[in-house]
Amino acid sequence: MKPLYLDNAATTPLHPQALAAMMPYLTDDFHNPSGVYATARRVRKAIDEARASIAAAIGARTDEIYFTGSGTEADNWAIHGTLAANPDKRHIITTQVEHPGIRRTCRALENRGYEVTYLPVDTQGRINPADLQAALRTDTAIVTIIYANNEVGTLQPMAQIAAIMQDHPAPLHTDAVQAVGHVPINVNNLGVDMLALSAHKFGGPKGVGALYLRKGTSIASFIYGGAQERGRRAGTENVAGIIGMATALTLSIEAMPHEQPRVTHLRDTLINEILQKIPHTQLNGAPQDRLPGNINISFRFVEGESLLLHLDMNGCAASTGSACSSGSLEPSHVLMAMGLEHGMANGALRFSLGRCSTEEDIPRLMAILEPAVARLRSMSPLYDDYTKGATNGIQR
Ligand SMILES: *Cc1c(COP(=O)(O)O)cnc(C)c1O
Repeated sequence: MKPLYLDNAATTPLHPQALAAMMPYLTDDFHNPSGVYATARRVRKAIDEARASIAAAIGARTDEIYFTGSGTEADNWAIHGTLAANPDKRHIITTQVEHPGIRRTCRALENRGYEVTYLPVDTQGRINPADLQAALRTDTAIVTIIYANNEVGTLQPMAQIAAIMQDHPAPLHTDAVQAVGHVPINVNNLGVDMLALSAHKFGGPKGVGALYLRKGTSIASFIYGGAQERGRRAGTENVAGIIGMATALTLSIEAMPHEQPRVTHLRDTLINEILQKIPHTQLNGAPQDRLPGNINISFRFVEGESLLLHLDMNGCAASTGSACSSGSLEPSHVLMAMGLEHGMANGALRFSLGRCSTEEDIPRLMAILEPAVARLRSMSPLYDDYTKGATNGIQR
């Protein structure tokens, strides 16, 4: 039987049409797009078209899209590039719930003497725009706020955030890697100056992403070398990757009118199923303002890592949340920021749905999940104490 893949927030399967669109550039049309001959110019033209279609997909102008090697690179560039262009400004504002691409960049900058304000979030993972207003200073160089959280799927009130930034010269960057291709995105409606996206989160290939850079935003070049990406991100283009990314994004946008409600319905069905059939569970994140494919649930009296291993042994792939935090026994910084107590944060699992998820996945997961949770609880001293307390009539 095919493995049950519920980790689409970590990466998505390559769309077959994206692969087909990439193939010529991995074979016959291998020419360097910087060449002057006709075959090279054809490759250049394909890149130009990909740039235009990605721009159109997010409401940007074609010359505002810069290709990068990943979403992480786009995030790094947004921050380092802005700081380099504004050397007198030493303050950064971000949130307590960022992806490591932003979080670790900020931590590294703190070690180099920058000051970072990490805005807190409420129990659903949302920042309070008033906190941003209060944190802004004259030496604030950049504000960077994740649009859709990779662990709990919560969407931030970006338009409200952008309205506050209207009166401040610092650019507003958003890590929208989880959102692009899954919910409608328009950089003008969001009101952001910079936005990071990554191909492999919406059916494109790994190792390619883009930074949207609003015209007039001051940012230093990131990689020095040739004239690629208008000299701002040098290095011969990942041609096939760029074509695959543009194709996958176009397909995702075309499919969104039916995919967004379909996946949202699957999500809500699965959430209800788990909360109803498995006691001592809780949904983490916002019930409505969340990504269509994101489910994050805490199983009390269970270690998330142990549950993951049980699921894996039964052919089901899920995650505890951030790819970078798994392997460490530290509870998720996102869940801790949302105020979960340690045990509930450690018992959290993320199931992320996508294009290939179907109704049949729900009974398949439940058939694996219910006995796995029951088995782990049967071995848990905490659960044992709890049930004994309950039968003795002790209030818990
Ligand atoms: C996956 C992800 C990234 C990193 O993108 P890569 O292309 O894998 O480097 C950044 N931010 C968020 C929110 C993500 O989910």
